[in-house]
Amino acid sequence: MKTHSSILIKLLVALSLSLLCASQDFDFFYFVQQWPGSYCDTKQSCCYPTTGKPAADFGIHGLWPNYNNGNYPSNCDSGNPFNQKISDLMSSLQKNWPTLACPSGDGNKFWSHEWEKHGTCSESELDQHDYFEASLKLKEKANLLQVLKNAGIKPDDEFYELDSIEEAIKDAIGYTPGIECNVDGSRNSQLYQIYLCVDTSASEFIECPMLPKGRCASRVQFPKF
Ligand code: 5GP
Ligand code: 5GP
Repeated sequence: MKTHSSILIKLLVALSLSLLCASQDFDFFYFVQQWPGSYCDTKQSCCYPTTGKPAADFGIHGLWPNYNNGNYPSNCDSGNPFNQKISDLMSSLQKNWPTLACPSGDGNKFWSHEWEKHGTCSESELDQHDYFEASLKLKEKANLLQVLKNAGIKPDDEFYELDSIEEAIKDAIGYTPGIECNVDGSRNSQLYQIYLCVDTSASEFIECPMLPKGRCASRVQFPKF
């Protein structure tokens, strides 16, 4: 009898552990894209990747697991480091997820940072390859630069109403984006990052449970790049 119940307890513990590991441990993703012109102004300077100046397009910053209350997990599994087994995605990553930090790099350091800080916290849903592939698909699906251009909002150093930027994205994608701004050397409020919320399988945009604080003026500059 005693051995039976101890086996039962062990089985129950194993079962609950496996359920705990298999269930996703975050509520949604922020999919964050950065405008390179503003990143370069924010840091006063930036460094183009060793692979060359990126296109004048939004670039991926990251796909960040988040909780509904605004908190977020980070650095969830040091046993699952960035392993670069994404060679089939490499040219697309270079184009769509370029690094602008100094000193110049080929992108691996940025991707590794994003995987280790954020990606490991959604590994129950997406392995490394899935994580990068899903991010690339989301960028294509959002097509932010084209959406803004269609609404007459272009990276031409002009100022645009924050509301009109939000509205253009909401009309095209169906959900309100989070807009984050920076202040450049001349104290202009600039369009820096756009946050879209995504379901836990990283395939569909959703309404944001919580919008990030944006620090934008009512009119913001969309700098050239
Ligand atoms: P910052 O303080 O510049 O807004 O953010 C620094 C870093 O913290 C971001 O690049 C990102 O890695 C992380 N971070 C900031 N806000 C959030 C958030 O709302 N959710 C998640 N998941 N990460 C965030
Ligand atoms: P976060 O924790 O803010 O997601 O990650 C930002 C980190 O990635 C910083 O250490 C930053 O230096 C590095 N990084 C490399 N390239 C870029 C880039 O193009 N944009 C941003 N925002 N961070 C970059």
